[in-house]
Amino acid sequence: MNSYVEKDLKYIWHPCSQMKDYEELPPIVIEKGKGTYLYDIEGKKYLDIVSSWWCNLLGHSNPKINEAIKAQLDNIEHVIFANFSHKPAITLCEELMKIIPQGLCKFNFSDNGSASIECALKMAFQYHYQTGNPQKIKFMCLSDGYHGETIGALSVGTLDLYAKIYKPMLMDTIRIQAPDCYRCPYKKCRENCDVECFKQAEIAFEKYGNETAAMIVEPLLQGSAGMRIYPAKYLTKLRKLCDEYNVILIADEIATGFGRTGKMFAFNHAGVSPDIMCISKGLTGGYMPMSITITTQKIYDAFYADYLEGKAFMHSHTYSGNPLGCSAGLAVQKILKEDNIIENSNKTAQYLHERLNETFLSHKNVGEIRHINLINAIELVKDKKTKEDFDSKLRLGYQIYKKALSKGLLLRPLGDVLYFNPPLTINETEIDEAISICKQAIDEVL
Ligand SMILES: *Cc1c(COP(=O)(O)O)cnc(C)c1O
Repeated sequence: MNSYVEKDLKYIWHPCSQMKDYEELPPIVIEKGKGTYLYDIEGKKYLDIVSSWWCNLLGHSNPKINEAIKAQLDNIEHVIFANFSHKPAITLCEELMKIIPQGLCKFNFSDNGSASIECALKMAFQYHYQTGNPQKIKFMCLSDGYHGETIGALSVGTLDLYAKIYKPMLMDTIRIQAPDCYRCPYKKCRENCDVECFKQAEIAFEKYGNETAAMIVEPLLQGSAGMRIYPAKYLTKLRKLCDEYNVILIADEIATGFGRTGKMFAFNHAGVSPDIMCISKGLTGGYMPMSITITTQKIYDAFYADYLEGKAFMHSHTYSGNPLGCSAGLAVQKILKEDNIIENSNKTAQYLHERLNETFLSHKNVGEIRHINLINAIELVKDKKTKEDFDSKLRLGYQIYKKALSKGLLLRPLGDVLYFNPPLTINETEIDEAISICKQAIDEVL
């Protein structure tokens, strides 16, 4: 073991990890990154097929983003954002206005995804309080949803893996059975479905709509649930239902934003707008911790009053609107536009999906390969016919992860769902390499 690994284990408590696992899989100490690859201190390279937890949008060490941050650094690194402002934040909002769903126009900055969710929940709650509906205090969410890991975000999240132990600390939320297109309870498949599962939302709204402040969703893609993908029609219907019951619709576009689903935002597929949208991850290309909670003029106006009326949104984070993050965000917008990144990614995505189908679809343990743009999930099952899962104690996904790592592929499964969610700039050669290593890893473990 080299000394960096030893010292890492001495000091660092890594996120989302059983640290005892590190006894047999020590941390990989990364020296540098370039494009889709990471390089460790021993010179071994890894293909980063998960975009370093879905945030690296345009490759590591992108020269244009590097340049933008360096240039900003010589002007101002950070400044208090109450009463003060700066050009990068102002210009970033101006640029985002050109691409966000219609109606969204007020930008509240935080420094990570979970914080932007907390901000959205508080905003929705206070909006109703200040517009004559103080009874609207509940939140609705989908089952198997994920919105981050602070207490409020965990409350509207529904994955036991992250939330179970903290249940006594969480607020009581209304959970609606989410669409599950692979194991559809209505016996439909993606091709012939009329979102029959939306009935569950209608039942919940009828019962609790009047006391509900907001409904939060991960649009089209429930990432942490195993890259579950559902039809855009669900969102169109949800928009209508929220309007009927005066429930604020919060879109968590933290994972789906900036081209991940093939359009700029997942909500674009549905042709409707949310009332609040949370963005982070790809916002800075995965460079800087930054997030924004964006809302409408109508919600903003409910907070706008003489100071003594006490209606202000008293929510703040020290690093709100960090100029380095904003300049990274500006560079990302420039690259997306000038290099036609999203349109090009649609083509690479087709190649990736075809190659994955060719390679894995006939495998006896591959239940489904679902995809939306470059995001592809391979769900491993014990039995293809019954869709029965493997015993989770086998930690099959984890075994495959370790195998793939040893061969130079960073593939971090969600349970037994292996997924590809690469930078939008990945090329066909890199895709071939990733698939080849993934296949070897699966074959060796299974
Ligand atoms: C990553 C993620 C979050 C949380 O963001 P953090 O920056 O990790 O706090 C919330 N929602 C979704 C959909 C995410 O993918």
